[in-house]
Amino acid sequence: MLQDKKYLMIPGPTPIPPAVQQAMIRPMIGHRSGDFAKLHERLIKKAKQVFQTEKDLFILTQSGTGGLETAVANVISPGDKVLALVTGNFGERFAKIARLYGAEVDALEFPWGEAIDLKQVEEKLATNQYRAVLATHNETSTGVTNDIGGLGALVAKTDAVLLVDAVSSMGGMDIRTDEWQVDIMVTGSQKALMLPPGLALVSVSEKAWQAMETAKAPRFYFCLKQARKNMAEWNTAWTPNVTLFYGLEAALDMILAEGLPEVFARHALMTKATRAAIRALGLELLAADEVASHTVTAVKGNDQLNTEDLRKVLRTKYGVTFAGGQGKLKGKIFRIGHMGYADKLDIILAIGALEMALVEVGYPVQLGAGVAAAQKVFLEG
Ligand code: PLP
Repeated sequence: MLQDKKYLMIPGPTPIPPAVQQAMIRPMIGHRSGDFAKLHERLIKKAKQVFQTEKDLFILTQSGTGGLETAVANVISPGDKVLALVTGNFGERFAKIARLYGAEVDALEFPWGEAIDLKQVEEKLATNQYRAVLATHNETSTGVTNDIGGLGALVAKTDAVLLVDAVSSMGGMDIRTDEWQVDIMVTGSQKALMLPPGLALVSVSEKAWQAMETAKAPRFYFCLKQARKNMAEWNTAWTPNVTLFYGLEAALDMILAEGLPEVFARHALMTKATRAAIRALGLELLAADEVASHTVTAVKGNDQLNTEDLRKVLRTKYGVTFAGGQGKLKGKIFRIGHMGYADKLDIILAIGALEMALVEVGYPVQLGAGVAAAQKVFLEG
């Protein structure tokens, strides 16, 4: 096997397109230069199109978790009541951050593999006691997408601000930040945005800015009001990762040139094909069709299928990396990432490799059945 030929099919970091890689080898520029100011201005305009927002947007040198912490740190005060909607590992993380900032967190937990039940949320919100509601748009640990539009309509009727983690879906799925009334929307660079890790993009509504006026949690690097002030003066909050900013422009240009509807349709089709293939191989999907993520697919192991053995064969014999389960799903599922710089033939490759690895770990499958099912979906479009 060619040792350096690798197929990274995890839900982030994801493969980097050559045009993005190329953009990042440009020489460094000063972050307070006119050139940086122009680059930054263009980036904000382009990123807002992907976020589908006309509100404020920040490109911060942090990973996705930094973006989540930024959202929490800016709107809450110790003792505030926060409603955290937990559908998996990343929902748990969001709740944990709020707890660490002194919030009294009411965690509404849903079975892993299922979506948020808006009825239960509506009941909780009826008391109008929450300062903030935390939700994950695309729960990467389970491959489930939540209905943020429906949630936004409920939260907007209350005094709470809605903070949403779209780290593993922005740039791959149709996310209508303003229409869905999201107050702080967070994403990261290393997923559907096709960049290396290191940037968090965060949009901020008027309601969120108002909440910041009274929020008392201590913050310095994460302070959005300070960032806004610094940016007005210098076009950047702190010293930014200029290299990633170059890459971001190339990535956003690719997304906008393909067209947002086309990008979303490509992701939806990859999910459909992957799910058809998994079913054709007799394996079970974790999420139901109606709530299935378009960027990552989670597949269950079973008594005859040890997911960790399977992933090892895929990695060592074929150079294909799938993700394992996280938290309480560790050892119980494997996850196929299909976001960003991914298309039809990446799915065919992944399923072809999966079939061979299944045979090698002694799981009975008919070779070609999964590939054929995926091909059929792609041919039908
Ligand atoms: N939220 C979600 C939904 C994620 O998928 C991830 C990363 O996998 C994160 C948050 C954390 O982002 P980061 O690892 O960039 O800090």
